[in-house]
Amino acid sequence: MGEFDLIAHYFKRPVRRAALGVGDDCALLQPKADTQLAISSDMLVLGRHFLADVDPRTLGHKALAVNLSDLAACGAKPLAFTLALSLPHVDEAWLAAFSQGLLALADAHGCELIGGDTTAGPLNICITVFGEVPVTRGQSQALLRSGAQAGDDLYVSGTLGDARLALDALLGKLKLPDDLLARARTRLETPTPRVALGLALRGVASSAIDISDGLLGDLGHVLQSSGVGATVMADIATELIAARAYLTGATGQFGINLSNEQWRTLALAGGDDYELLFTAPPALQGAVAAAAQASQTPVTRIGQIHATPGLQLLDRHGQTLENHYASFDHFA
Ligand code: ADP
Ligand code: MG
Repeated sequence: MGEFDLIAHYFKRPVRRAALGVGDDCALLQPKADTQLAISSDMLVLGRHFLADVDPRTLGHKALAVNLSDLAACGAKPLAFTLALSLPHVDEAWLAAFSQGLLALADAHGCELIGGDTTAGPLNICITVFGEVPVTRGQSQALLRSGAQAGDDLYVSGTLGDARLALDALLGKLKLPDDLLARARTRLETPTPRVALGLALRGVASSAIDISDGLLGDLGHVLQSSGVGATVMADIATELIAARAYLTGATGQFGINLSNEQWRTLALAGGDDYELLFTAPPALQGAVAAAAQASQTPVTRIGQIHATPGLQLLDRHGQTLENHYASFDHFA
């Protein structure tokens, strides 16, 4: 199978909303009046972002999910994406599973594959997504990192730390019982982009970011962009680790015994969570709850924004914890 058959077979589909899809030199999108295009790219590199033996179906899912997560963080509605793929050779079973995982998530979000590039080379996947954000009375409705205000509440969606727990187990750094590993592994391999929550938070959240590199590191970007500081209740974040809640529900049966410190590190610096971290004024607490309900996404208040720059971490007793939770940096 050659390059063009491969594209036609696995990646070319009937065009839906785009003006022109796969097959010409460019795809064409026609943005509606009073909308902005939100655009984001994410690359997945073998050995860096995924392991060689990963299930290609989940890899297809994750490659798009991490991009949709960026749209979610901006409150953008997914429209379309392009796929640049470098493959060592044509493995049809691999391509079939990869494209199924990819396109199933694309269909679930009405996000169509409109183009890309295919070359031979080391396995590498780069996706660019396009989403739309309304502009109302000249004001963009996009959620940005820069909008957090002193006094705002700080919230996080969903669960934290489970992806990192699974990664550490797969790398042999710790041992997990099979059923726990299977659960944590779904968070690592098939993260849920919080698109519906991002849309519901337009006009409610004052700032937002998605958690890819670790909660505290990503929060640091919000604080820096907004010129504010924050207090984070570390032990509330730790309670959001699904694996920990699962273990607490059946004490001692599972033979893993992490220290408080290890649990905190998973929640605060684990990474690969693809949850939304966002701020909103206390007056909009009800609106945040309504957005969580409408999008069927759990949301937890984990702290507060203040005017003084810096990040303060508190434990469950209100004691200050030292912040040594480094987040992921490819070149650090
Ligand atoms: P060009 O050489 O003009 O860049 P290509 O021959 O690389 O075009 O690609 C042919 C068509 O197939 C283009 O419309 C391109 O967007 C699309 N395409 C290439 N690779 C992929 C892919 N992996 N997924 C979806 N579309 C692709
Ligand atoms: Mg090309």
